[in-house]
Amino acid sequence: MSADSVTPFGFEALPVRGALIHLSRTWRRMLRDHDYDALVTETLGHAAAATGLIAQSLKFDGTITLQIQSTGTLQMLVMQCTSELDVRGMAAVEEGTAATSFAELTSKAHCAVTVDAGDRPYQGIVEIDDRSLAASLEHYFARSVQVPSHVALLANEEFAAGILLQQVPGAPIDADDWNRLHFLIETLSPKDFTGDTSLHLIGKLFAEDDVRVYEPRPVNFRCRCSARKVEDVLKMIGEEEARQTLEEMGDIEVICEYCGRHRHFDAVDVERLFADNVVFGPDSVQ
Ligand SMILES: [Zn+2]
Repeated sequence: MSADSVTPFGFEALPVRGALIHLSRTWRRMLRDHDYDALVTETLGHAAAATGLIAQSLKFDGTITLQIQSTGTLQMLVMQCTSELDVRGMAAVEEGTAATSFAELTSKAHCAVTVDAGDRPYQGIVEIDDRSLAASLEHYFARSVQVPSHVALLANEEFAAGILLQQVPGAPIDADDWNRLHFLIETLSPKDFTGDTSLHLIGKLFAEDDVRVYEPRPVNFRCRCSARKVEDVLKMIGEEEARQTLEEMGDIEVICEYCGRHRHFDAVDVERLFADNVVFGPDSVQ
């Protein structure tokens, strides 16, 4: 098995670049502290696979964020992947509601992909296609990025996976070949991710083509939350509210929505936080 990696490949006779992502342990860790229903799990898994594939496809040093906000069942979905392929993500669902389709889940949704590589983050709007996130991203690549692409995404509570095929800019491809590749990646099913290595799967899927497979790159779950960042949020909320919570609850507990980490702030911490000359500890307290 070669799970928790993304494997780039190329076609010797076609101007197409591709990558296959398969997340297993990384994906289950992301789900660990949450209780999503099957549809939200699937959608979040599609987002995890897609964000990893996009991060792999770009030459950059920074973070990709895929964000969906809707007034429907899915209030918020955030998926982030760094250029080092560290991934984290979460979804928040309107309490007491459950959607039965992707269209219902993301009704009136805004979706955006942000590439943050330092100075000026670039944000592209992804128009939601009611059929799936994969179809939405195909439109996004074709219109916003102007790189015709095929996207296949699969996920359940055990794995998240996908394939991204992109035309090489400036090199025309025969429409029949391009359609044939789309048809092939549409045949992917969950059972393809139960035993095969990515190398094997790519070879099997494109058996008619001469495919060159490159070294897989590992993908890891990693949260970048830190005591310092939580303290910044508490300072934004303000001293009055912090002290009020302290009085009511005894201490302030902050739980990271991504990794589930609990952090506690007692009266001494709050005193220190709002003192004039604040001295912060190390960025990430273990
Ligand atoms: Zn965290």
